[in-house]
Amino acid sequence: MTKDIILKLKESNLLGRGGAGFPTWLKWDLVKKAKGDKKYVICNASEGEPCVFKDGYIIKNYPEEMINGIVLAMEAVNAFEAWIYLNKDYYSKYSNKLKKIIGKKKINLFKKTGGYIGGEESALCESIEGNRVEPRFKPPYLAEKGLFGCPTLVNNVETFYYASKVDKGEYNQTRFYSINGDVLNPGVYELEESLTMEQVLKKTENYPSFDFFIQAGGGAAGEIFLREELKTPCVGAGSITVYNKLKTDPFKLMEKWIEFFACGNCDKCLPCREGTYRLMEMIKRRKLNEEIMEQILFSLRETSFCALGRGIPVPFRSFLKKVMEIDL
Ligand code: SF4
Repeated sequence: MTKDIILKLKESNLLGRGGAGFPTWLKWDLVKKAKGDKKYVICNASEGEPCVFKDGYIIKNYPEEMINGIVLAMEAVNAFEAWIYLNKDYYSKYSNKLKKIIGKKKINLFKKTGGYIGGEESALCESIEGNRVEPRFKPPYLAEKGLFGCPTLVNNVETFYYASKVDKGEYNQTRFYSINGDVLNPGVYELEESLTMEQVLKKTENYPSFDFFIQAGGGAAGEIFLREELKTPCVGAGSITVYNKLKTDPFKLMEKWIEFFACGNCDKCLPCREGTYRLMEMIKRRKLNEEIMEQILFSLRETSFCALGRGIPVPFRSFLKKVMEIDL
């Protein structure tokens, strides 16, 4: 008898690649054991943060592997059907190819609605259901009450890709990195997940010869690290963006982040809706009021409804402190 895929995932110690790093086997097991007449599997292909493009690379180059992972998940949790939730760009580029691979399997394609927040797992359930795209209050968690009120498993593209690799015995503790910014060889690389950020930059021949800082784990929400801080593995979505310290306009960079958050949030809660707008005003005026900025960042972290708002202070605080030498 072949070994159960959930057991294989547990032995492989595969962590979800959407950013949170939750053990994959546990997520699958929770949905398998959840009570419900129908269950769903969703592949989150809504990737949309600046500088993160490895899921698109996988869909383009290894769609069969990703779909095989989805089919394994459907069988493991006994799902009624699955959905692939694609951002608009990936939908227009890859939906025809995906439909051919899917054939008669019960896997639907869905074109993302709403802004960046549409990629949050409960917001994407709202999106598929045709509702206003905003996160839900948790608990209940999706494993218990997700799409159409049924137990639902949501993983991203890379996680399904690696679930398929685990099943075949081909998972070798690697992950995908999106590397970009002021580098010679930008692109997507599949390398050991244990590598430090410095090793990733060196292995891909992207380690700069100039004074630089990097943003890791997302080109908006990612934390800023200095050259001497790169001896730890890359966290979150596996992106590394290199910035030339001398050539980077700090206000332009912060403007890029805050415009992304202000346009990509859902306006559901006041700290994030108002806070991002007020921060954007201040940054566009190119004059920081440190006291007000501290208050906005504090209320975002402490009182936002979802992780998007709570995470906004991370790039700003680390950038202000490490690069602009402003300690809020
Ligand atoms: S923090 Fe609030 S406004 Fe911002 S995305 Fe989350 S729910 Fe929407």
